Amino acid sequence: MSGILYIVATPIGNLGDISQRAVEILKQVDLIAAEDTRHSKTLLERFGIKTKVQAYHEHNEDQYTAKLIQRLVAGESIALISDAGTPLINDPGYKLVATAHDNHIQIVPVPGPSAIITALSASGLPTHKFIFEGYLPPKSDARKTRLKELQNESRTLVFYEAPHRIVESVKIMQEIFGDNRRITIARELTKQFEQIVRDALSTINEKLENGEIKIKGEFVLIVEGAQESSITDTEILHINQILSEKLSPKEAAGLTAKITGKKKNEVYKLVLEHEK
Ligand code: SAM
Repeated sequence: MSGILYIVATPIGNLGDISQRAVEILKQVDLIAAEDTRHSKTLLERFGIKTKVQAYHEHNEDQYTAKLIQRLVAGESIALISDAGTPLINDPGYKLVATAHDNHIQIVPVPGPSAIITALSASGLPTHKFIFEGYLPPKSDARKTRLKELQNESRTLVFYEAPHRIVESVKIMQEIFGDNRRITIARELTKQFEQIVRDALSTINEKLENGEIKIKGEFVLIVEGAQESSITDTEILHINQILSEKLSPKEAAGLTAKITGKKKNEVYKLVLEHEK
């Protein structure tokens, strides 16, 4: 019989956040596959876990996935951990879990901390629907383009961001989402200098500039979604019709989209359906 692949979440700062079940499983498995063996050493030593540890990260996953699968097929049990939080959430492991499924190996998640959910739960922004964007592209132009694509997204938006890009990202967000859209900055969660601040984008930018929010440590950004427009289709068509008297169909649809907060292609679609 094949062994079990456990996906074990570990703390995102405060070691006290590890679960009792996580400790038991990490003690009992044949092997721990860790993103960084040196980093995980502190955690494993603190809880007296003496299981053998092997490195499994983005640079060796092609080479090691097959080896880990072989061991699982041979009946050994393996626990996958990352440096912090839940493996696979912006961390290695996708290839291993996907290949384990392909080989009908039992996969058992051992849930625990993740910075997304931790930040969201304390954000003071709507949590019933949200999207997780991971890291924005590192280059400014690509970052702007992605944020523009998200401008009309009505669900709460969650981003991971590196400290050296925080100031620029929040500035671009203000430019694209407007001064008044609210954002929560969640910094150093569960750690000594934890800071969670919710305010309008313009105010958060000031707080980053005047040092009230320190640009140090790990960050999650949670941005309020766009207000859903309550305008009816009939009203949109009416605006478009008035504008069409003076403008080309393309210009009219573009301006209608701007006025109503809809997407240009949504306006086009509506007009075409109406004409039919
Ligand atoms: N697997 C992790 C998880 O489940 O949250 C995420 C790993 S990702 C490589 C690391 C990013 O997560 C950081 O750059 C930061 O954006 C966020 N993060 C991790 N720990 C955090 C903490 N204690 N406070 C704030 N953000 C954190």
